[in-house]
Amino acid sequence: MTTVRGYAAQDARTPLAPFQFERREPGVDDVELDILYCGVCHSDIHQARDEWGGSIFPMVPGHEIIGRVTRVGANVTRFKAGDSVGVGCMVDSCRACTSCKDGLEQYCEQGGPTVTYNGRERASQQPTFGGYSSAMVVDQAFVLRVPDNLDPARAAPLLCAGITTWSPLHHWNVREGQRVGIVGLGGLGHMGVKFARALGAHVVVLSHSENKRQDALRLGAHEFVVSSDTGQMKARENTFDFILDTVSAQHDLNAYLRLLRRDGQMVLVGVPEKPLELGAFTLIGTRRKLAGSMIGGIRETQEMLDFCAQHEVVSDVEVIPIQQVNDAYTRILRGDVKYRFVIDMKSLK
Ligand code: NAP
Ligand code: ZN
Ligand code: ZN
Repeated sequence: MTTVRGYAAQDARTPLAPFQFERREPGVDDVELDILYCGVCHSDIHQARDEWGGSIFPMVPGHEIIGRVTRVGANVTRFKAGDSVGVGCMVDSCRACTSCKDGLEQYCEQGGPTVTYNGRERASQQPTFGGYSSAMVVDQAFVLRVPDNLDPARAAPLLCAGITTWSPLHHWNVREGQRVGIVGLGGLGHMGVKFARALGAHVVVLSHSENKRQDALRLGAHEFVVSSDTGQMKARENTFDFILDTVSAQHDLNAYLRLLRRDGQMVLVGVPEKPLELGAFTLIGTRRKLAGSMIGGIRETQEMLDFCAQHEVVSDVEVIPIQQVNDAYTRILRGDVKYRFVIDMKSLK
């Protein structure tokens, strides 16, 4: 066992604070890494505050992890000490079900994947602890190779915000000539804009914050619409091929669904605390489709990282010391983040 330092939430109401805990000794298939950077995802807040229910405390959040390998087990051939690696939202899955065999471990049919934190290890049932910490040990099958030309701090959010937006854009074959809406310009949304633009689509940001207009255009959007402006929304009804909804709070789905043309597709990736309302007429009137999507598989996460290296896509980040993580949570909830906080783990020392 190795003792590591981190930050944990002790319950759903108290701020995160320093916490020491044990990591297992690397087994034959394990990679041990020193964590350099970890992004702050809105899911960290939902879970640390138990907004989705069933949170396990103490909780060390963090699933946008960039690190450097320190040791590897005897069976590990793809990684060696010194390599730059990433770990995202999953650290294990059953590896035998159809979804796992298809490289879609996030949809593992044996109780879901083992999530990086706020989950339990499959054999021992010990709680998993995430990336707001100095080091971790992960099975090689869930470790990603981080291309050298990606700035490590700016690459960290790719491990969740990146793959969560990349996967649906790919799965639904978003391409040149299509009109694509990105709802919510936060950590996920800003990556959605970058990817949809890189795939050649006409990109429209739909935001409830008028003050994000300049940023949206700079990040690659062709148009910016304030969702409270009924005139602007009305003018765009029945025009979109694809809409990606990244909103973390209650909002009116129907207002966005009406923007889809016949047979258009909307995909939810945001996970508000309470159920959203759906008007049947909004779907049936023009055969619109609504789906959801969760992160992405390990294989496609590697493909996404390689795409980012080739097209120089990284996140817009504000790097913070871990002592500011509670302030960062407050600022995310206020919409005051451009566009992802990333914790520099040197600050733990
Ligand atoms: P974020 O950085 O806080 O961005 C969320 C955005 O939603 C905000 O920037 C804001 O955009 C919009 N928004 C917030 N409150 C709103 C309100 N009251 N009404 C309308 N719009 C509002 O969060 P994130 O890290 O991108 O995560 C977004 C959501 O995705 C979270 O619920 C998170 O848990 C979820 N998530 C899901 C997956 C998955 O696998 N499906 C993976 C990661 C995260 P504007 O100011 O532009 O309106
Ligand atoms: Zn996340
Ligand atoms: Zn499985």
